[in-house]
Formats: sequence, C-alpha cells, structure tokens
Amino acid sequence: MHEQAGALSSAPVSSGRTSYAQRQAQRAWRLLHVDAGEAFRLLQRAWARAQKDQDAGGLAWTQLVRGYHQLYFATPAEAQAELARAQERLALLGDRPGELLAITGHARALWRQGRASAALSELLPLRDEGLGLLRNEQRGVLLNAIAGCYSAQGNSETAFAYMYQALRDAGPKRGNGYDIALYCNLSHELIELGDHDEALRQAERGLERIESIRNGRLHTVLLVNRAICLTELGRASEALDDARRIADAVVDPSGGGLVPMHFEIMAHAALRAGDLPLADRLLAAASHELPEERLEIQLARALALRLRGRPREGLAALQEVSELLDAEGDDRAPLRLRCQHALVRAELHEAAGEAEPALLALREWQRLQAERAQRASSARYQAAMLQTELLQLQQRLEEHDARRQAAERARRELAEAHEKLTRKMAEVEALQEQLRAQATQDALTGLANRRHLNEMLPAVLALAQREQSPLAVVIIDLDHFKRVNDEHGHPAGDQLLAAFGTLLRSHLRKSDLAFRYGGEEFCLLMPHTRAMDARHKTEALLADWKAQVFQLEGGEQLTEQSFSAGATDSLTSPGSPSGLLRAADQLLLLAKRGRRGLVLTPGTC
Ligand code: GH3
Ligand code: MG
Ligand code: MG
Repeated sequence: MHEQAGALSSAPVSSGRTSYAQRQAQRAWRLLHVDAGEAFRLLQRAWARAQKDQDAGGLAWTQLVRGYHQLYFATPAEAQAELARAQERLALLGDRPGELLAITGHARALWRQGRASAALSELLPLRDEGLGLLRNEQRGVLLNAIAGCYSAQGNSETAFAYMYQALRDAGPKRGNGYDIALYCNLSHELIELGDHDEALRQAERGLERIESIRNGRLHTVLLVNRAICLTELGRASEALDDARRIADAVVDPSGGGLVPMHFEIMAHAALRAGDLPLADRLLAAASHELPEERLEIQLARALALRLRGRPREGLAALQEVSELLDAEGDDRAPLRLRCQHALVRAELHEAAGEAEPALLALREWQRLQAERAQRASSARYQAAMLQTELLQLQQRLEEHDARRQAAERARRELAEAHEKLTRKMAEVEALQEQLRAQATQDALTGLANRRHLNEMLPAVLALAQREQSPLAVVIIDLDHFKRVNDEHGHPAGDQLLAAFGTLLRSHLRKSDLAFRYGGEEFCLLMPHTRAMDARHKTEALLADWKAQVFQLEGGEQLTEQSFSAGATDSLTSPGSPSGLLRAADQLLLLAKRGRRGLVLTPGTC
C-alpha cells in the first residue's frame, strides 16, 4: 500500500510573529510521523487556545495540521472537509504557502478516495508556484502528493522521479520518520512492478526503523506491504501473526496504535496460508468503500470458495466484479490486482476441471506479468536513483544517531563525573571539618583540647588584662582515677571521663571555657570571675559529681567519685599564661596532698 509521505520534517512557513497556538500546531506538524499521538494532543491544546484567543492564524494552522493528521487517522472525507476549511481561513489571512499546503492535503484526500486524476488536476497547476513559494520540506509534501497520484495511475516511472525529487528537496534534515514513509511508498511501488523480493527488503528496512517513531498508520502500512510480498513469494504463513494483530487493532483517532485497515489484503494472506477462519473474520469486517477494495474482497471470497471445494461458486463471485476489471481511468484496478485476478481465475477453472479457460486465464496472467516487467524496466533507472538516495539518507540518519548517542553518552559520563566530584568534595569538606574539630577538640569528652587551651589562654588573658577584669583559671584532677581503670576496666574509665565532660559543659556559663587538660585533668577559664567565685562554682560542680551514680556495663555501680581542684585568678596570680596555670596546678597539688575532694584557692591555702 502506498503511504502519503509528506516531508513533514520542519515547521510550516510562518508569516511574521507566530502565536502560541500556531507554534503548538507547528510542533504537531513536526511530530505527525514521529509521534502521531503526541501531535494529536498538541492539536487539541492548540485548538482550545486559538479559540480562546480568537487567534485566526492559530485556528487556520491547527485546522491545516489536523487535516493532515486526519489523512492518516480518519476518513479521507473528514480530512477533506477539515482541509477545505483550513484553506478558506488561510486564504483570508493571505497565507499563500499555508493555502498551498491545504490544497495539497485536499488533493491527497481525493487520491485516497480513488480519485487520482482529480487530485492531479488540483496539484499540477500549483506545482511551479509551490516549488517557488514553499520551503524545502514543504515542497517535499507537494511533490510526494504528485508522486502518489502518478503511482495510482500506474505511472511508476514518473512516481519514482517525483518521490526522488521530494526526498532530495526535503533538505538535509529529513529525519522525523520521513524516511519510514518513503519505505512504505517504495515497497508499494515495487509491489506494483512485481519485484516482491526488493519490495520485501524495503518494507523490512522500514520496519527496522519503525521502533524509533510512534505512528500506527506507517507501521500498519509496512506490515500490509510485507504481507503482500510474503504472500506473493509463497510465504503467506509468515504474515499470519501480523494479520491477526491488524484484525485485532482498534480505531485510535490519536494515531498511537496499529490501524484496523486493509483487511481484504490480510484476508488474502490468511487464505494463502490456509487459515480460513481468520480470512472469514477479516472479510466480514473489511471495508467496501473503494472499487479496489471491493475487487480484492471478491477475489478473496472466490479463493475461499476454491479452498472449500466450490470452484464454480468462486467463478461466479469473480464474475460479480468483472466490470471493475474493465474500468478505465481512476477506477482502473492496479496491476497487482489484475494479475491476482487472472491467477485466481486460472486456479478456479483448473479446480473445476476446465482446462481451456484455465489456460486462457494463465495466458492473461502471463501478459500482465510481462506488462509489469515492462513497467519495471522503464522505471528501473528512477527506482535505482530513489533507492540510492534513500540508502544515503539512511546512512546519514544512522551517523546522526550514532553521533547523538555518543554525545548523549559523553553528557551522561560528564554528569556522572560531576556528581562523583561533588560527592568527593562533600566528603573532603566533611573530613576537613572533622580534622579541624579534631585539632581543637577532644573526642571522648567533647571539650576543647590542651592545644586549644594553649592557643586561647594568651588571648583571653590579654583581654582580661586590658579590661582590668579578673580571669579565673581552675585545674581539676579526678581523684583516684587509676583505681577506676584498674578495678572496672579502661572502658569504665572512659565512660566516667565522658560523663565528666557532659557535666562540666552543663555547669558552664556562655563566657566560660572548658578544656581537657590531660588524661583525667581539666582546665576552666572563667572571664570576669574572681578565684573565690570560681571556687564556689567548682564546688557546686564537685557536689554534683559526687552525687552521680554510674551504671557500669557489667551491672556494677560506681558512686562517690570526687575530684580535687586548684583555682586562681589573674589578679591574684598576675603574670603569664604559664604562670597562671602553674599557680592553679600548685593549688591542685596541695589539694591532692590533703584529703582530696577539695577546691583550693590562694586564700584558702
Ligand atoms: P590521684 O587521685 O592522685 O590523681 O590518682 P589518680 O589515680 O587519679 O592519678 P594517676 O596519675 O595515678 O592516674 C591517672 C590515670 O588516669 C592513669 C591513666 O591510665 C588514666 N587515664 C588517663 N587518660 C585516660 C583515658 O583517656 N581513659 C582512661 N580510661 N583512663 C585514662
Ligand atoms: Mg592526674
Ligand atoms: Mg587523678
């Protein structure tokens, strides 16, 4: 079957500024082949918007593109009506390129209705103007429509020449599923010429590419063309699955799924494969609209009757359509069908035991095959040109695909590398933060460490001296801590140290600073505090510490923990940071020499 390939690969002509609806319609136009369903949805949106905005350009273009969509997925009559309305609107707007496209679509609808001559007489007068006015791919639409008409008239040579020109005119950006439509047309034409091997190859090339787009009509046409080839090549059983799929297809106006059409062709394949029930089902639902369809249905019925052993009834069925074979002009049956008719007739006569009419029918078949061969021969050059062009396009598309995939891969790798780097940087930052904390913080108690004390004390002391305000320094040493380790284990000692850190922090004012000074020794800096006040605070801390009960891991309890401390201040023990620490240390030592569990200040010694 022929498909109406239009090179719908880029946006239609736009005059001046385009409205929102018009842009949506143009996107839909680009998607007609590639994703018919999405194109349909875009058109619905564009239409609603154009109506809301009273946007004449938007309405005209939406109708135009919708008309083209209907050429694929609705009846030709519906498409024709839509395109006629679009044409009127575009003419009013003075959008001549748009108008030409509307007329082209309209002519295609005529051709779909079996009126190729009428279509051609609409198209040919526009050809030169269209070639001048339309952009590349739009010229492709026009040229392909002309090609389709010539094809329907049996003029393969001219059809090929126009298809070739359309393909070349469509410009370098001919992706967007246009090539797949060309495979439909090429396989159809080759079938007409009786070159079923090559036609099968072209249909299969199209089917290889069909996964890359979502267009149920193109898909169906390729399957139908393949079924014709397989049937003619004696491999009809290979087409049975596709026949069933098409028989089961449901009408989808958006164009997403397979289209339930050409049942008569699939019925023929089913019959040649010996599947009578499937053939009967297909024939019962087949469309009778076109003479061509009626002829093919009748041929299939005759064949079914032969298979059922009723050849004479089959011959009578053929008789019913004999006037279709004699028709001329647009109603002239395609060569493929005329050949088939002669062959089925020969088979029926043979089955009826009528040797002479069988022979006559075979001779007729032979004559038609010769005509086919003659036509194939004269179209050979143009066909080869088209095939070469299509192959080149295929190569370009594949290269383009490969480039796109490589770019996509590179982009993905870059994104991954970037993500890895970001992750690594976050890890490094966290690590640095940890290191910074480790450098100044003691992990076990959560207090600042001695190094930090050494950094802080000179500054804190200098500030106190400048303010002439006392800075209290307290050094605390836990009593008999070694015993805890010895009697309860090192982890118990750790537990105590951590608990002391927590308690210490809870006793501090905002301005106070606490450090882990050594193993079980701690140092407090209290700005604006006299030694005596520091002592009172430390004694309060001692009381709390003593009151704590520690639940050790083995179930044991530890109570009555104490510490000793020395507290001084910068007014009482003036001088350097080390002098202050030394003074506090000496007081601590005195406390240890005493009964422990004491906080000593210079005044209390
Ligand atoms: P005193 O009352 O005279 O201070 O007696 P003491 O046992 O507390 O003093 P000593 O200096 O004899 O022992 C201190 C102990 O503290 C020795 C050491 O193993 C322990 N220590 C130091 N740092 C840590 C630590 O981080 N964890 C644990 N569990 N023990 C520690
Ligand atoms: Mg100690
Ligand atoms: Mg100690």
